[in-house]
Amino acid sequence: MTSAFKTLDDFDLTNKRVLLRVDLNVPVNGHKVTDTTRIERVAKTIQEIANKGGLPILLAHFDRPKGKVVPEMSLKVVVPALEEIVGKPVIFADTNWTDTAGVKAAIAAADPGSVILVENTRFHPGEEKNDPELIARMAALGDIYINDAFSAAHRAHASTEGLARALPSGAGRAMEAELKALEAGLGNPKTPVIAIVGGAKVSTKIDLLENLVTKVEALVIGGGMANTFIYALGYDVGKSLCERDLKETALRIMDIAEDAKCAIILPIDGVVAWHFEANTPSRIYGLDAIDKDGMVLDAGPQSIEKIKAAINEAKTIVWNGPLGAFEIAPFDTATVEVAKYAAERTRKGLLTSIAGGGDTVAALAQVGVKDDFTYVSTAGGAFLEWMEGKPLPGVDALTAG
Ligand code: AMP
Repeated sequence: MTSAFKTLDDFDLTNKRVLLRVDLNVPVNGHKVTDTTRIERVAKTIQEIANKGGLPILLAHFDRPKGKVVPEMSLKVVVPALEEIVGKPVIFADTNWTDTAGVKAAIAAADPGSVILVENTRFHPGEEKNDPELIARMAALGDIYINDAFSAAHRAHASTEGLARALPSGAGRAMEAELKALEAGLGNPKTPVIAIVGGAKVSTKIDLLENLVTKVEALVIGGGMANTFIYALGYDVGKSLCERDLKETALRIMDIAEDAKCAIILPIDGVVAWHFEANTPSRIYGLDAIDKDGMVLDAGPQSIEKIKAAINEAKTIVWNGPLGAFEIAPFDTATVEVAKYAAERTRKGLLTSIAGGGDTVAALAQVGVKDDFTYVSTAGGAFLEWMEGKPLPGVDALTAG
């Protein structure tokens, strides 16, 4: 997947107009950006282009205007935060993406060292349709295309896929880091690889599980979804979250794993509570004795030891989804302990650790080990589609030529 993409190192950026696809879909409250993580991620690429004499022309979507100009979804709202984080003046170029004369004028008038931010690409219906006319209109604004928005790479849109084929193209620094990390995770990893998949439901992760069992040496299944597997093996899981209708799916995944020689590691004990609330009384039960009125809300101590032992065998770990209902204490215990353990082995140089997905990022941040992992992806949908083994059009377009 990441075999042959160009980076900023492969281009002479002097006096070049660089169309830079970024993810600026940041949370906003009124007129203020409330979380600047996404801006911080792409700041280095923007600065490097400007410092090397190029003109960064930022393309991004914001919210879901569905192909129409929706003034409340204007990207103008991010200009102050962008200026502050990048440390350069940002010129906002308004357009409906049918008439781009104003953008051309802004580009022609831009002082060296400045940055241009063009209005929401999704204001035009051609963006999500990957429309050749819109692609040509976008391509006419620049000399080079750089994609730094891995989180939008699972979409084949004009600004994420089409443009990469229309201009000399490469990956920005954030995209480059993400692709290298993913290559180290599943593309060309140090083996054995262990995957940990948790979270609420099997139904949202069938493709992911089916793909992983063919790629990794061991798969830990945790969280609510483990209950479905445990139920499929004939145990009574009481009132636990469990998708009983997916019994056959769970059995099929275990069969595929067996054929692929992937060990499936399920909990052997569980922390059971009778109410879904913080600090409610709870007890540990073995799998064959779960109280019929109780809910398994976390993996038990023996399961945690089993997972740690499996991590000891691995050189690479890929993790998505919490091992229990981690938002409510004490049902965060398994997630916290396993995260700390993986972080410690990573710090010692014994493990390459890649994690991603909204809840997983939140859980690792809660434990305070986010920076100890080799790479934590905040890309959401694109990260999950990568774990599912699906092609990512935005990445494939960068590596195609
Ligand atoms: P997902 O979005 O599928 O990754 O699921 C994350 C959610 O799964 C979190 O909100 C967890 O609280 C929830 N979860 C994990 N384990 C359990 C469990 N044993 N019972 C109920 N919810 C769980």
